[in-house]
Amino acid sequence: MDKTLIVIDNHVFIKPEYLNHEFISGNKLRKLKYNLKEAKRLKKNVLLTFGGAFSNHIAAVAYAGKEYGFETIGVIRGEELVNSAKLNPTLAFARECGMTFKFISRHEYRTKTDVLFIEKLRNEFGDFYLIPEGGTNVLAVKGCEEILTVADKKFDYICCPVGTGGTISGLINSSYNTQKIIGFPALKGDFLQEEIIKFANNSNWELISEYHFGGYAKINEQLVHFINQFKSRHKVALDPIYTGKMMFGIYDLLDKGYFKKGSKILAIHTGGLQGIDGMNEKLRQQNMPIIV
Ligand SMILES: *Cc1c(COP(=O)(O)O)cnc(C)c1O
Repeated sequence: MDKTLIVIDNHVFIKPEYLNHEFISGNKLRKLKYNLKEAKRLKKNVLLTFGGAFSNHIAAVAYAGKEYGFETIGVIRGEELVNSAKLNPTLAFARECGMTFKFISRHEYRTKTDVLFIEKLRNEFGDFYLIPEGGTNVLAVKGCEEILTVADKKFDYICCPVGTGGTISGLINSSYNTQKIIGFPALKGDFLQEEIIKFANNSNWELISEYHFGGYAKINEQLVHFINQFKSRHKVALDPIYTGKMMFGIYDLLDKGYFKKGSKILAIHTGGLQGIDGMNEKLRQQNMPIIV
């Protein structure tokens, strides 16, 4: 057995992409790898990207900028944050890494891919290398094609959480036809199917949309309980936004007999653990149990 995998039981294994970095989501580093090379090649000094206030991608870009010598600009959803006295843990980390923020309204945020809006940003900040929200583009998918290795051929199912679809597209492209790739969307969204079709070159995949818990960053006590129990049983931390929902889904599907008997399942632990502190702040405010 591949020593880099974590064995959960006889048929569930975890690929610990979260160990690629202590703070940054493993898949976000994969998605940035070839984008950073391209930015260097184009002699860009500034990276600009978009995200919500708890975004793993914002944290990853800020960190990558510091590490590889780029200035970074984060266009953040939620103008009310401009006046908040204290930044949440994600944004505090990004600022420490040197990121400049531009907070915009939710309304304006919806126009973030419009040519006119990008032009406005170029007028304000000058030349930059643009990385889309969540980091997904062709170069990001190329980076995610490096997650699976030949040794992973023995798995019948490869499972991963889905946000913008870049990670699963990379997994699909580097999988074998005998394998099935199962994505667990972390948000409500019918657009995902189409996004993945744009990047993926095989049809051996499926999205299972029953485990988003009401939408992006929405969670309930049942999920918190599952995450805490999983950690105490298996010594593996899960994040509440992506990997917790995926793993909850895998176990529910196991209970329902979804997987072929005797098959081997590989779950990609994409990371996201930096989001736990921010989520716990919200849970405390709502007097809900927290992630331990
Ligand atoms: C961003 C992220 C995802 C989703 O990846 P996409 O490529 O956007 O689908 C999954 N897990 C974690 C931990 C993430 O940070």
